[in-house]
Amino acid sequence: MKYKLIGLLSVALTLIAIIFISRSMPEDNGTRYIEHIMAEEKEACKLHENDTICTHLPIVNINTNGTEIPGKPIYDEEFRVIDYTLATDGTTTIKASLDVINNEKAYNHLTDPKTDMGEVMIRVRGHSSRRFEKANYFIRFIDSAGENNLQEFLGMDAHHEWALHGPFLDKTLIRNYMWYNIAGEMMEYSPNVRFCELLINGEYRGLYLATEMITAGKEGARLSLSVNKKDNTFSGYALRLDWGDTDEANKLYPFTNYTTRAKTQHELVYPGTKNMTPELKEAIKNEFSLFEKTLYSYDYNNEKYGYKNYIDTDSFVDYFLINELTCNYDAGSLSTYIYKDTPGKYKMCVWDFNSACDLYQESAVVTESFNLNSRLYFQMLFMDDEFTDKVVNRYHELRKTVFSEEYLMNFIDDTVEYLKPAIKRNYDKWGYTFSPEYDLLHPSGRNLRTYEEYLMQLKDFIKKRLAFMDENIESLKQNSTESKTKKYNEVSD
Ligand SMILES: [Zn+2]
Repeated sequence: MKYKLIGLLSVALTLIAIIFISRSMPEDNGTRYIEHIMAEEKEACKLHENDTICTHLPIVNINTNGTEIPGKPIYDEEFRVIDYTLATDGTTTIKASLDVINNEKAYNHLTDPKTDMGEVMIRVRGHSSRRFEKANYFIRFIDSAGENNLQEFLGMDAHHEWALHGPFLDKTLIRNYMWYNIAGEMMEYSPNVRFCELLINGEYRGLYLATEMITAGKEGARLSLSVNKKDNTFSGYALRLDWGDTDEANKLYPFTNYTTRAKTQHELVYPGTKNMTPELKEAIKNEFSLFEKTLYSYDYNNEKYGYKNYIDTDSFVDYFLINELTCNYDAGSLSTYIYKDTPGKYKMCVWDFNSACDLYQESAVVTESFNLNSRLYFQMLFMDDEFTDKVVNRYHELRKTVFSEEYLMNFIDDTVEYLKPAIKRNYDKWGYTFSPEYDLLHPSGRNLRTYEEYLMQLKDFIKKRLAFMDENIESLKQNSTESKTKKYNEVSD
């Protein structure tokens, strides 16, 4: 009897240990699905020439029954955006149906069997990209009652919220795909993406990138945050620094909102308004403010009270490095995501590389300087020599893997090779935008005339930037040089 009990107990203990270990295992980054490497090769279709859509990529069909998709900009006489178009009922989205054509082994055609994915609510999304003719869309899958409908989409984990990103300013068409995937190799989470070709009401719209919106999902999909129910007093959460063009209910006003000159707003992206309570919002605001006050305090790097108790340093290091490598200047101010489970530490997530690698419309980027180290949070982090050392060491480590020139150049070439016929189809539709009257970059000399030139621009930029960072990464240490007073900052207890 005694032995039986001991036997049972040890089985139970082993089970508990297994559950505990599997829960505390770090995210396995080795399993990220990188489409151009992992997509199953399809046998080329020999039946069709250029007159029909015959593609190895999935075809996504959206049907609005002819209704205009809302969210396009409305301009004043001086071409300034003053508002966005609405649906006829005054709301921001309209209902549409969505189906996918994706044969397992064969090329896809419009006449092939479709997978009906039901209804979606859809609108144009983005900020400056809303001006572009090839729009980006936000879609939310809904059921017959209009409630969120979790759907697996093009092989990505089930969720109701997705973005359809249509590269337009980025003439190479691959920036977001490339950097989301590389970030996914470095960090706990980066949005998963799949290429597709989009038709709206039967009209071909070109090459699109189906993208996970940054939020939490069921069973650890996307950000692994404890999923909030309305009656919870606390849960994991995600927030974004951005323009603040969101509902007042989503705006958080933490400490730095009052103490810095940052023009951007902290917006809650998870939990959504549906599961938010005033008490939960207040608790999140207080907890986040506590981190901010700590970071901007005299004892910011103190082992016992300092910032390291609040943030996952590696996540901030990687966020810095990938955004610096790409000169992604919005990072740290706009489209900047920070999330935290409970219990847990703050982590960062990348978003939007559309203007990265010298595609800012307003002016050319300066490849010979660092930028993000003077932004909110990072400005303080770089005062700590321990943080700076981590950045420098991690950079040298990444240069041997996903930041190696060979890896990056091959990534570009292999992606282009994988997409090739779809790139041609995209530019059969949008190729006119290579001509001078559609130039989007200032000054005008930055606009190029062919796809190949833009590809070369991306490669040249990366090589130049790597050379600069190799030469100067150590200079970041000047932000954390010993000061005469530094020794007094350290609390001895
Ligand atoms: Zn065919």
